[in-house]
Amino acid sequence: MRVVFLGAPGVGKGTQAEQLAAQYQVAKISTGDLLREAVRNQTELGREAKNYMDQGQLVPDAVVIGLVREKLSDVSCANGFVLDGFPRTVPQAEELGKALASKAMALDRVVNFQVSREDVVRRLSGRRSCPKCQATFHMDFAKPKVEGFCDRCGESLVQRSDDRREAIETRLKVYDEQTAPLVRYYEERKLLSPVDASGAVDVVFQHLSQVLMPYRMR
Ligand code: AMP
Repeated sequence: MRVVFLGAPGVGKGTQAEQLAAQYQVAKISTGDLLREAVRNQTELGREAKNYMDQGQLVPDAVVIGLVREKLSDVSCANGFVLDGFPRTVPQAEELGKALASKAMALDRVVNFQVSREDVVRRLSGRRSCPKCQATFHMDFAKPKVEGFCDRCGESLVQRSDDRREAIETRLKVYDEQTAPLVRYYEERKLLSPVDASGAVDVVFQHLSQVLMPYRMR
């Protein structure tokens, strides 16, 4: 199973990718997670990416393409992969196509998660995460047992710097301008499948599993 998850920030791609990876034993490649890890570890790449991320802008194509190429060569991808948050621009999609072709591979499906703009803003602005173990919560939909603290490790929860209102606006604008054209791009290549992502996590996962059913066995 080789799939790409497309959709605006806040549609729940990360949560679905995690479940899919666990259930079907495929690798989850999340460029957002990889970049945040680089920022935490203060690597050169992390220092370069941080300002773009805090402002809600995209990190330059060359940086993320390099990251993904490296991950795709991992043995953990042998059983398949789900790309969460990549590609986000047409040049990234083109580079992904080339990288896969060079390994005699191709994408099976591109899933386009759809949620209203109002819901996306509500999901992003209520999101909180644990700076220690990276668990995520939501102030309305996935509350921690003790308000403000991580269920898993007890650390105080924080808001991602790019989940502040100003950054959310920028991220949605960037999505409309740079990422939304990928819907057409993959539609033209007959790879796109829409999934209604407005419901609860389990309901969305059921829809997703149906769409990906033909690609489960390889
Ligand atoms: P995410 O967790 O997917 O919302 O990503 C968080 C931030 O990481 C984005 O707002 C971008 O600054 C950066 N980022 C993640 N994936 C990409 C990508 N494919 N291209 C450029 N920037 C990215």
